[in-house]
Amino acid sequence: MKDIDKKIIELALDTVIDKFTNQDFITQDFANYSKILKNRYLQNQSLHIRKRKCSIIGCNEESIKKSHSIPKSSILKNIALNGHVFKPEFNTRNDFPKNEMVEIGINNASVFPGYCIKHENIFKSFEIDGKFDNAKKALLQTYRTICRERTYREIELEINDIIKNEYKQKINEDAHNYLKDILSKYPQFNDIEKVKIDGVDRVINSLKYMNDYLAQPIEQFKIFEKNILNWILKLPFKNNLIVRVVNIDFHLPISVCGFANQTYIEKNKTKNACILINVMPHQSTTDIICVGLEQDRTLIENYFDFSFSDPINILNMIESFIINGTDHWFINPGYWNNFTSLKQEKILYDILFTEDSFIDEYKFSIFDDVRIKIIKILTTNFNSRQDPITPFEKEKLNREIIKLKNTDYDMIKDIDVLIDKLNNMLYKKE
Ligand SMILES: [Zn+2]
Repeated sequence: MKDIDKKIIELALDTVIDKFTNQDFITQDFANYSKILKNRYLQNQSLHIRKRKCSIIGCNEESIKKSHSIPKSSILKNIALNGHVFKPEFNTRNDFPKNEMVEIGINNASVFPGYCIKHENIFKSFEIDGKFDNAKKALLQTYRTICRERTYREIELEINDIIKNEYKQKINEDAHNYLKDILSKYPQFNDIEKVKIDGVDRVINSLKYMNDYLAQPIEQFKIFEKNILNWILKLPFKNNLIVRVVNIDFHLPISVCGFANQTYIEKNKTKNACILINVMPHQSTTDIICVGLEQDRTLIENYFDFSFSDPINILNMIESFIINGTDHWFINPGYWNNFTSLKQEKILYDILFTEDSFIDEYKFSIFDDVRIKIIKILTTNFNSRQDPITPFEKEKLNREIIKLKNTDYDMIKDIDVLIDKLNNMLYKKE
């Protein structure tokens, strides 16, 4: 190539890079392209119900389309109204960032492309009776929780990849057209076939953050999976799981099957504790299964000991978990519809914009009837024993009564502030 030609092409490429860096290509018009991104995201959601490789590590069989992560007939039925439940979901069709309650049939609630036909059978033991009366059943249920969470994230990562590649292709086309335009007066450059830009712009950057957020806990899930499988297969190994299972004497109109994590500092080291929780309601009782990892023993044991020390704490734990922890839960539609619309709005708002952790107490009461029942029982117990009620007990009951009365449903309505909040949360969890 002649020196003069080299110079021409260098200058032209610099202009292309400048245009890309200044986000000046048509595709980089964020307002416009974010609509396309959103549509492509929605179109690709069908991947969540398409067969894929069985979730059991080492199995290469094809999964069925819909494995339940919560037993349908023995658990979901107990909170269903005419075969349906409600679940919180981010409204991707609206420009205003908000969650809404959506109705879903129990055939489709909690499903994911999980296991092959052979491995579906390992959950049969409690699929029918719904009883988690031994550690094996509790761990199998926890196992499904992780498999669903991991599969969900892996599919979302695949969707992100599809979107990112399409976007990059469009940018390359824009750059190619632009370069052809600049060089049109030089016949020696008429045969440039394609341009590839490797830079990072706003869209690629947000997709990267989204990817990091989705991928971050997957390694920890694999530790859980390996430990549970070893346990089930009775392989000789050091047990690295901390498991708590309780059955409480009241029915909760909700079923939870999810995880939450919390970073903390121990011996000058930043660690990330992951907890898996299952709330499995029966007709008049509820099973609660919590599992954590040995590596976070101090934090997790303290959390479990406190949470399971009395029924009020159990209720507080579940309420905080569904607001500050996971959004993979289902509620009885009739129960939800009995809330005032402001209370509904506030709960959905807090799920989306919470800055608290699952360890923090939620300052509103969600399950009022259950809370009132527990307060009554505790009050009766305190009054019927010989020792008078202690100031600590009194204070505790009062706090719960205040929670029942709290209707201070303050919410930000400014769309820009809310979008900023969401962005900050995403980037913080990098
Ligand atoms: Zn399999």
